Order: sequence, then C-alpha cells, then structure tokens
Amino acid sequence: MNILLATNNDHKHREFQQMFPDHRVLLPADAGISFFFEENGSSFHENALGKAGELFRLAQQAVIADDSGLVIPALGGEPGIYSARYGGEQLTSVQRNEYLLERMEGVSDRRAFFVCALVLLLDEYRYTAVQETVPGVIIDASRGDGGFGYDPVFFTEAYGMTMAELTAEQKHHISHRGKAARTLQVLLQNLDQRGA
Ligand code: IMP
Repeated sequence: MNILLATNNDHKHREFQQMFPDHRVLLPADAGISFFFEENGSSFHENALGKAGELFRLAQQAVIADDSGLVIPALGGEPGIYSARYGGEQLTSVQRNEYLLERMEGVSDRRAFFVCALVLLLDEYRYTAVQETVPGVIIDASRGDGGFGYDPVFFTEAYGMTMAELTAEQKHHISHRGKAARTLQVLLQNLDQRGA
C-alpha cells in the first residue's frame, strides 16, 4: 500500500519508511503535491490531525501525519509543540541544541520526554490517532551523530546512550515514533486483511 506522509522532512520520511517496510511511504512532492501546513494547534494531537486533514483535502487518498517534539517538565513543558523552531526558525540543529543546553544551565531536574502524535486518516470521516512518548534525560553536551534534532542531547537509560549514538533499529525499538508507528502497523494489517 502507498502511504502518503504529511511532512516535507527527509529524516522523518526515512524513519517512517524504515518503520513501514511493507509499504511505500511517499512524500507529498512524490505525489505532485506542494504541501505546507502552518502548525496552529495547541497540542501535538491537534497539529497532527490538522496536517492529515489538509493533506487529505489535497490528495484525496489515505494519509499519515505526525507531530512530535521534546517536552521538558522543568522548563514548563518547553520546547513542546514549538520544538522545530525553538530559539528561532533560522537555527541549525547544532545551534538549537546549544540554545537548549543554555536554557538548561543550572537546572537540576534534567528529565525529558519525546512525544509523537500520529494520525492515520483513511477518508474524510475515518481516522485513528495514537500518541506515544519515550523518557530520557538532557545531558550537558551533545554526543553522537545519528538521528536528528535533539537526539544528541537526549540520553536514554534503555541503552545508556544518547539517541544520536543508537543505530536506526535501536532508536525505532524504543522511540516515541517507533511505538506509535507499531500501533498503526497493526491497524494497517487489519485493514489490508479485510480489504478496507
Ligand atoms: P514537527 O513534528 O515537524 O513539528 O517537528 C518536531 C521537532 O521535534 C523536530 O524538528 C525535532 O526538533 C524534534 N523531534 C521530534 N522527534 C524527534 C526525534 O526523534 N529526535 C530528535 N528530535 C525530535
């Protein structure tokens, strides 16, 4: 089955393709669609649903949309739904991580978690939403060069490494996106079986 993914982010595209090996994951551009969605929701879930609805309107076929980010309770939930532009739209990932580490200076409670909201929208009236998390700790200097975004500063107890030090398989095994995607995989299998 072709799955149209409501993102223009190549890293996410790669991760989703690895997580749905039995399906062909397409970006809007692959379907000739120019997709831009202004994230104006007040939660990950609202943003994911909004993105899915907008892409469905343009494509008229089943779509998957996600919204994800990093939540740090000691910073009042920052960067949260603003994770992609935290510290300024123009920052590189390296600069954004430096900005985050500055904000964390002197903060003793380093606990954090990633959140991933995923929506599978089959048609205008049928959708499934799932939201997952993975816990971690913000370390005080970047480590590793895998993954993307905040991975180099996000240390996971499960492996005793940062997310950026994990292989793609290890990351999918524990990640917010991996867990949410596995729930949708089961659903897709069921849909395939009943031909709906
Ligand atoms: P959005 O879902 O496109 O709005 O962007 C989510 C942002 O959250 C990304 O740009 C990253 O900064 C951050 N993020 C989400 N998931 C991950 C992850 O798996 N690793 C590192 N950063 C992530």
